[in-house]
Amino acid sequence: MSNNATILYVEDNIDNRTLVRRILMSEGYDLLEATDAAQAMEILNETKPNLILMDINMPDMDGYSLTSKIKKTPGLEYIPIIALTANVMRGDRERSLEAGCDGYIQKPIDIDLLSSQIEHFLRSLDGRH
Ligand code: MN
Repeated sequence: MSNNATILYVEDNIDNRTLVRRILMSEGYDLLEATDAAQAMEILNETKPNLILMDINMPDMDGYSLTSKIKKTPGLEYIPIIALTANVMRGDRERSLEAGCDGYIQKPIDIDLLSSQIEHFLRSLDGRH
Protein backbone atom coordinates (compact mmCIF):
# COMPACT_ATOMS: atom_id res chain seq x y z
CA MET A 1 0.00 0.00 0.00
CA SER A 2 2.34 2.70 1.20
CA ASN A 3 5.09 2.10 -1.34
CA ASN A 4 2.60 2.89 -4.11
CA ALA A 5 1.44 6.02 -2.37
CA THR A 6 1.74 9.43 -3.99
CA ILE A 7 3.10 12.17 -1.77
CA LEU A 8 3.05 15.89 -2.46
CA TYR A 9 5.88 17.78 -0.76
CA VAL A 10 5.42 21.54 -0.52
CA GLU A 11 8.74 23.15 0.38
CA ASP A 12 10.58 26.31 -0.69
CA ASN A 13 14.01 25.15 0.50
CA ILE A 14 15.99 23.27 -2.15
CA ASP A 15 18.22 21.40 0.33
CA ASN A 16 15.21 19.98 2.13
CA ARG A 17 13.59 19.03 -1.16
CA THR A 18 16.76 17.21 -2.26
CA LEU A 19 17.00 15.36 1.05
CA VAL A 20 13.36 14.30 1.20
CA ARG A 21 13.36 13.37 -2.50
CA ARG A 22 16.32 11.05 -1.97
CA ILE A 23 14.65 9.32 1.00
CA LEU A 24 11.17 8.96 -0.50
CA MET A 25 12.30 7.88 -3.95
CA SER A 26 14.46 5.15 -2.41
CA GLU A 27 11.35 3.91 -0.58
CA GLY A 28 9.46 3.71 -3.86
CA TYR A 29 6.97 6.53 -3.27
CA ASP A 30 5.67 8.61 -6.16
CA LEU A 31 6.78 12.09 -5.22
CA LEU A 32 5.34 15.39 -6.43
CA GLU A 33 7.03 18.63 -5.44
CA ALA A 34 5.81 22.20 -5.17
CA THR A 35 7.94 25.18 -4.19
CA ASP A 36 5.04 27.45 -3.22
CA ALA A 37 1.31 27.56 -2.60
CA ALA A 38 0.36 28.44 -6.16
CA GLN A 39 2.27 25.50 -7.58
CA ALA A 40 0.78 23.19 -4.93
CA MET A 41 -2.77 24.21 -5.90
CA GLU A 42 -1.97 23.64 -9.59
CA ILE A 43 -0.79 20.11 -8.85
CA LEU A 44 -3.81 19.41 -6.61
CA ASN A 45 -6.06 20.52 -9.43
CA GLU A 46 -4.90 17.49 -11.39
CA THR A 47 -3.72 14.94 -8.86
CA LYS A 48 -5.00 13.80 -5.48
CA PRO A 49 -2.00 12.57 -3.48
CA ASN A 50 -2.37 10.14 -0.57
CA LEU A 51 -0.49 12.52 1.71
CA ILE A 52 0.80 16.09 1.69
CA LEU A 53 3.99 17.08 3.49
CA MET A 54 3.69 20.78 4.23
CA ASP A 55 6.52 23.15 5.04
CA ILE A 56 5.27 25.92 7.32
CA ASN A 57 7.69 28.77 6.64
CA MET A 58 7.30 29.78 3.02
CA PRO A 59 7.23 33.14 1.23
CA ASP A 60 3.87 34.41 -0.06
CA MET A 61 1.37 32.02 1.50
CA ASP A 62 2.69 30.08 4.50
CA GLY A 63 1.93 26.44 5.28
CA TYR A 64 -0.81 27.27 7.78
CA SER A 65 -2.78 29.35 5.28
CA LEU A 66 -2.25 26.86 2.48
CA THR A 67 -3.43 24.02 4.71
CA SER A 68 -6.59 25.96 5.61
CA LYS A 69 -7.20 26.66 1.94
CA ILE A 70 -6.79 22.99 0.95
CA LYS A 71 -9.04 21.83 3.79
CA LYS A 72 -11.75 24.23 2.58
CA THR A 73 -11.51 23.12 -1.04
CA PRO A 74 -14.14 20.55 -2.05
CA GLY A 75 -12.46 17.36 -3.22
CA LEU A 76 -9.21 18.11 -1.40
CA GLU A 77 -10.42 18.29 2.18
CA TYR A 78 -9.81 14.61 2.94
CA ILE A 79 -6.15 14.54 1.89
CA PRO A 80 -4.06 14.14 5.05
CA ILE A 81 -1.60 17.00 5.61
CA ILE A 82 1.50 16.63 7.75
CA ALA A 83 3.21 19.85 8.79
CA LEU A 84 7.00 20.09 8.75
CA THR A 85 7.81 22.55 11.45
CA ALA A 86 11.16 23.79 12.68
CA ASN A 87 9.50 25.20 15.73
CA VAL A 88 9.23 22.86 18.66
CA MET A 89 7.19 25.34 20.62
CA ARG A 90 3.84 24.05 21.72
CA GLY A 91 2.00 26.98 20.16
CA ASP A 92 3.32 26.05 16.74
CA ARG A 93 2.05 22.48 16.90
CA GLU A 94 -1.34 23.72 18.03
CA ARG A 95 -1.39 26.24 15.22
CA SER A 96 -0.70 23.50 12.63
CA LEU A 97 -3.51 21.38 14.01
CA GLU A 98 -5.85 24.40 14.14
CA ALA A 99 -5.05 25.13 10.50
CA GLY A 100 -6.24 21.61 9.71
CA CYS A 101 -3.02 19.61 9.65
CA ASP A 102 -3.45 15.96 10.61
CA GLY A 103 -0.06 15.72 12.28
CA TYR A 104 3.43 17.13 12.21
CA ILE A 105 7.04 16.09 11.74
CA GLN A 106 9.72 18.08 13.43
CA LYS A 107 12.54 19.77 11.51
CA PRO A 108 15.43 19.23 11.07
CA ILE A 109 14.29 16.12 9.23
CA ASP A 110 15.64 12.91 10.77
CA ILE A 111 16.76 10.86 7.76
CA ASP A 112 16.59 7.60 9.72
CA LEU A 113 13.06 8.31 10.95
CA LEU A 114 11.31 9.99 8.03
CA SER A 115 10.24 6.83 6.18
CA SER A 116 8.71 5.23 9.25
CA GLN A 117 7.02 8.51 10.23
CA ILE A 118 5.43 8.75 6.78
CA GLU A 119 4.46 5.07 6.81
CA HIS A 120 2.81 5.59 10.17
CA PHE A 121 0.77 8.55 8.91
CA LEU A 122 -0.26 6.74 5.72
CA ARG A 123 -1.48 3.77 7.77
CA SER A 124 -3.22 5.74 10.50
CA LEU A 125 -4.86 8.33 8.27
CA ASP A 126 -5.86 6.06 5.38
CA GLY A 127 -9.13 4.97 7.00
CA ARG A 128 -10.56 8.46 6.91
CA HIS A 129 -11.30 8.40 3.20
MN1 MN B 1 10.56 26.95 4.26
